[in-house]
Amino acid sequence: MQILDGKSCSEQIRREISEQVSRLRAAGRRAPHLAAVLVGDDGASETYVANKVRDCDEIGFDSTVIRMDAATGEEELLKKVAELNADDSVDGFIVQLPLPEHIDEHKITVAIDTAKDVDGFGPQSVGLMCLGLPAFVSATPNGVMEMLARHGIETEGRHCVVLGRSNIVGTPMSILLSRNSTPGNCTVTIAHSRTRGLKELCAGADILIAAIGKPRFVTADMVKTGAVVIDVGTTRVPDASRKSGFRLVGDVDFDQVGPKCSWITPVPGGVGPMTRASLLQNTLKAYHNRMRESDV
Ligand code: NAP
Repeated sequence: MQILDGKSCSEQIRREISEQVSRLRAAGRRAPHLAAVLVGDDGASETYVANKVRDCDEIGFDSTVIRMDAATGEEELLKKVAELNADDSVDGFIVQLPLPEHIDEHKITVAIDTAKDVDGFGPQSVGLMCLGLPAFVSATPNGVMEMLARHGIETEGRHCVVLGRSNIVGTPMSILLSRNSTPGNCTVTIAHSRTRGLKELCAGADILIAAIGKPRFVTADMVKTGAVVIDVGTTRVPDASRKSGFRLVGDVDFDQVGPKCSWITPVPGGVGPMTRASLLQNTLKAYHNRMRESDV
C-alpha cells in the first residue's frame, strides 16, 4: 500500500504558485486577488473561508472576505455578485456554500461571471469542462486529477467507479476521468444511492472514488486487491478528545481497506489539501487570463 499524499503534493503546488507570485511582484505586477463571500455563520463554512484566506496569505495572493448577515436577501446577494463581477481588482471569487435556505444557490451560481468563477460551479464552466475546453474545473475533482498526475498513477483503460453523483464532486469527476486525456481514458461507472449491486460493482473497480459523505462506508470486501482508492468523504464526527470537538472521517474504512490497495488517500491529508490548492491554481489562472485580456 502506498499513500497518495495530498498534503505534500499540495505543498509542492503552493510552492510553485508562491514562486510565480514572487516573480510577478518582482516585475512590478500586482498579486492575484481572490474574494470570498460568506453569508451567515455556519461553523464549517467559517473554517473553509478562514483556510482559504490563510492559503492566500501564505502564497502571497491578496484576499478579501465579504461577510453578509444570515438574513441577507437573494437580491442583495445578487447585487454583491454583480459588484464583484465588475470589480477590476478581483480576479476570482467564490460564494461559500451552503447558503441560507431562503436563497436559491443556483441563481447565485449562474450570476457569477464565468471569467471569475474559480469554483467552477457555474453552468458555463461545467459546459466548457464537459467539452474539454479551457475552463475552471471544480476544485475537488481538479485536485484529484492533479494528485493522480503527480503520483504517476496509470488510468488509461482502467475501470473507475465513482461513488456519488453530486454536481461539484461525483459528476465532474466521472467526466474528467472518462475524457481522452492523461490522467483520463478510464471506463467510468457512476454510482449513487439507487445503484443496485453496489458492493460487486465497487469490487470490480481498478480505481474507486468515494464521494458520498458516509463515514467508513467502503469496506474491504468492496475493494479489489491492488485497486487505487480515493476517499473524498469528510464527515465531522463528534470527538470529545479534540479541542475542536470533532474529527474528520472519510467514506473509506482506511484500516481495513488500506492493506488491499496499491494506492490510497488518507483522511485528513488526502483530497482536502488538494482541493484547497486547486482553488489557488484556478485563481492564478483567472489572473493570467484577465492580464492577457487587458494587454490586448
Ligand atoms: P452530496 O451532494 O451529498 O452527494 C452525495 C452523493 O452520494 C449523492 O449522489 C448520493 O446519491 C450518493 N450517496 C449517498 N448515500 C449513498 C449510498 N449509500 N450509496 C451510494 N451512493 C450514495 O455530497 P458531495 O458534496 O458530493 O460530498 C460528498 C462527500 O465529500 C462529503 O463527505 C463532503 O464533505 C466531501 N467533500 C470533501 C471535499 C474535500 O475537499 N475533501 C470537497 C467536497 C466534498 P443520490 O444522488 O442518489 O442522493
